[in-house]
Amino acid sequence: MNTFPRPHILLLAALPLASNTAFAAEQTQAISRTETRAQVAAPAAYFTGNASITPQFEANAASPLTGGYVTFAPGARSAWHTHPAGQRLLVTAGVGRTQAWGGPVVEIRAGDVLWCPPGVKHWHGASPTQGMTHLALTGSIDGKNVQWMEKVTDAQYLE
Ligand code: MN
Repeated sequence: MNTFPRPHILLLAALPLASNTAFAAEQTQAISRTETRAQVAAPAAYFTGNASITPQFEANAASPLTGGYVTFAPGARSAWHTHPAGQRLLVTAGVGRTQAWGGPVVEIRAGDVLWCPPGVKHWHGASPTQGMTHLALTGSIDGKNVQWMEKVTDAQYLE
């Protein structure tokens, strides 16, 4: 016995068709060539020392992630900040440091992968004597992927 009223079935059948139509315009791959992306100085308002950013990709309608490499010279670090949708850091070179508010300063090295949950106040940067590069994969909500706060003092960094 069919317990579903016919109009309900028709509605369910129509939804996938509408969805397929909406995605039809983006059914092919997109390649961003490395030579099209430039390294830029990290903004002095949010970083201490010499740091640079090479943006890799922005969020789009299907994926809320943004991606970018950040390279810190020895002693350089971000300001304190939070991410509304969290952040993964893939350390690709060197030795660095990170700290969540209220926790210890922790050393991070090439090959380490960090997850920072949404809303956790933290910073990341190089070690005092060695540089560090990480790929930052950061979620975004309503186009916003970071909330910047105060700078990390020398006392906090050298803790
Ligand atoms: Mn972060």
